[in-house]
This record gives sequence, structure tokens and C-alpha cells, in this order.
Amino acid sequence: MEPIIIVGSGMAGYGLAREFRKRNSEQPVTILTADDGAVYSKPLLSTALAQGQVADQLQQHTAEALAGQLGVQIRTQTRVERIDTGSRQVQVDGGCLSYRHLVLALGADPVDPGLAGDAADRVMSVNDLQDYRRFRNRLQGKRRVVILGGGLIGCEFANDLILAGYEVDLVHPREWPLERLLPPALGRVFVDQTRERGLNWHLQRKARAVWHAGDDVRVELDNGDSLTADLVLSAIGLRPRTNLAQDAGLQVARGIVVDRRLNASVPAVSAIGDCAEVDGLVLPFVQPLLAQARTLAALLAGEDTVLAYPAMPVTIKTPILPLVVGGATPEPAQNWQTDTVEGGWRSCLYAADGSLQGFALAGAATRERATLSRLLSPLL
Ligand SMILES: Cc1cc2nc3c(=O)[nH]c(=O)nc-3n(C[C@H](O)[C@H](O)[C@H](O)COP(=O)(O)OP(=O)(O)OC[C@H]3O[C@@H](n4cnc5c(N)ncnc54)[C@H](O)[C@@H]3O)c2cc1C
Repeated sequence: MEPIIIVGSGMAGYGLAREFRKRNSEQPVTILTADDGAVYSKPLLSTALAQGQVADQLQQHTAEALAGQLGVQIRTQTRVERIDTGSRQVQVDGGCLSYRHLVLALGADPVDPGLAGDAADRVMSVNDLQDYRRFRNRLQGKRRVVILGGGLIGCEFANDLILAGYEVDLVHPREWPLERLLPPALGRVFVDQTRERGLNWHLQRKARAVWHAGDDVRVELDNGDSLTADLVLSAIGLRPRTNLAQDAGLQVARGIVVDRRLNASVPAVSAIGDCAEVDGLVLPFVQPLLAQARTLAALLAGEDTVLAYPAMPVTIKTPILPLVVGGATPEPAQNWQTDTVEGGWRSCLYAADGSLQGFALAGAATRERATLSRLLSPLL
């Protein structure tokens, strides 16, 4: 029997294998992964430092152990180089493997900050467990970190580094951080609260170049200012990995285009997780990929179903000021209503008919997460 081939051993690829095995123990499943296949929870990478956890402590299982548990084959350090959708084969290590169904769970790549300067290659990003291991090694004996980008990942790392006693400068091009998640009022509260705890904000600034300065690096900003640091972490965004799919002739937009049955534009190929654009939505978070994995597992096991998304609030793991957002993405023209509640802040966006379209909660107000989530419409 030809296998279902899953490419990628992140939470999407492994999540699908687990869900599929709950429904079917016979069908061969092969997982191909470019990395070592270690099982870990990626969201923990941006909170592990303050908890004193190193990379090895974040690894839950080896690929070998998981393969045994699930009864699947896992080939590590195996990069898929090409897909032939006509003959239903993938090319790896110079050989070809046939599939019954192919699932692309390729994740996303950090966006290259495109910096000038003789130390631009010292800028790092943390997008998997191996990156995290390098990050922790490079942090040893160091004190000062510059972070580029104040989105979810940049803000979480800034929070974690501050709590672990580092000096942190955060450079962000917009007026307030987390602008795709937080309305301006809560963005500013976040800046104030984290600044009080020592985070140095450089808003409406971009890094232009990174230069060697003895053992340090000097980050040059677009207004001519310079920041000296031991280490520079770039967190300016992630881009779905689509090249493999594009080269194989699959339809690609921001991500690999799939419908609500997770079907790509050619037969017997699906995409899930950070690389996928499902019904027009690229949602690089755990809850959506788990919903996709459950739906695709059911479909591959012969059930007829279609993906549905409930409202899926996102927790931003910044214990200095905990944040939860749900529903609408803030737009500059929108009128969010912000209230102070005891120990926290609540911002809500209402439609003309009074229905809740989105919320953002900070501090103690995050306990309203479940109540407000119930008022939001399902996403899909
Ligand atoms: C620091 C950080 C914190 C986060 N915190 C949160 C959070 O709090 N809540 C939340 O919901 N989400 C969070 N996220 C996002 C969430 O972790 C991701 O959405 C999720 O882990 C993506 O899983 P994935 O399996 O799609 O991709 P990945 O984990 O990136 O896996 C991709 C896999 O594909 C493999 N691969 C790629 N190309 C090939 C190829 N050609 N051949 C073979 N293998 C290949 C890779 O080796 C890898 O195994 C966070 C992300 C980061 C980086």
C-alpha cells in the first residue's frame, strides 16, 4: 500500500499523524523532515529563558520514539527537493518516493531583514528548536540584546529576556507594537508597562545596518542613531514556505492555496499549518493548525467533513503585561472602545448593530477571554 507522505515534523505534520492514527492504524504513513524531527512545542521557545529551560529540556520526544508510538516511518534530515504531481512522487536524496496522498506541512521562513553592514550575518532569528539552541549558546555570558520587530514573536522574546535580566532594545517601524493584533490604546499601554520594566523602545524606527564593533555589534537605525549589543534577534515576520509547491505547479497566493477540505489545486495534495492559505486565510497559530489536522485526518480516514474555525483568541505570552486578542484585526480607522478595569484594560470593537467584532484584553482583564470569545462569530 502506498503511504500517505507528510512533509514536515512541526506541530502541523505531527498533529496530523497523531489525529490520523486515532482513526486508522493500517495505512502506512511516512513523515519526511529536513530537521532532526524532535518533538517540541514551538510556542515555548519565547518563554523558556525566564523559566531557565534550555533547548534539550524543551524536547519532548525524539523522532524515533514518536515513530514507535504512532507506528509511522519518520525520515529525518531528509529535504524534499521536488514534487511530481503527475506520477505522485516526491524527490529526496536523489531518489523518488511514491505517495497515495501528499500533505505539505512545511511551516514558514523568517523574513530576511535585508540589512547592510559587515555584521549583518550575525543577526539571528529563532524559528525552531535548533535556532533556540544556537540562541542560548550565543547568549551565554552576554547582557545586551537588540530585537528587530515588535510583533508577537519580538514582544514575547523581549518580555522573556527582560524577565531573565537582559538589557533589551526593541526596534519597531510602527507607532505602536503588535499593530496587527492590538488597537493603538492597548499598544501604548503595553509600551508603557514594559518600558517601566526596562525595555527600551525605538518606535517608528527601522534598522539599516549592523556593524562589528570589537566584540560587540552596532545596530545603525534609519535616523542615524546607533545601538550597541552583544546579539541581534530579528523577528520582523514569517513568510509561508511555498517554493516547493510553486515549482510543482500548485496554486500559491500568500500561502499554498487550499480549500476547506484542505485540498490544494492538484489532486491528492493537501497543505496545513503555517505554509497553508485555507479559504483565503493564513493563520500562523496553533489552534488553526490543530483544527486543520483534525479535519484532514478525518478526510484521509474516509469521513466526509469540512473545516470549521470557531473564534480563536490568541494569547500573547508577555507576563509583564498578559494580553489576549480575539476577532477583528485592528484597522487605523476603526473606533475601538477602551475601558480600564481593575488591574487591566479592555478594548472592544462593535458593529453598527451592537454585536462584538473584536476584543483585546490586557492584565487582569484577560480573565474575560472566555466570556468575550463566546460573543464572537465563528471565523469559518
Ligand atoms: C517563538 C514563537 C512563539 C510562538 N508562540 C505561539 C503561541 O503562543 N500561540 C500560537 O498559537 N502560536 C504561536 N506560534 C506559532 C506556532 O508555533 C506555529 O504556528 C506552528 O508551530 C507552526 O507549525 P508548522 O508545523 O506549520 O511549521 P514548523 O514548525 O515550522 O514545521 C515545518 C516543518 O517542515 C519541515 N520542512 C520544511 N521544508 C521542508 C522540505 N522541503 N523537506 C522536508 N521538510 C521540510 C521543517 O524541517 C519542519 O519540520 C509561535 C511561533 C514562534 C516562532
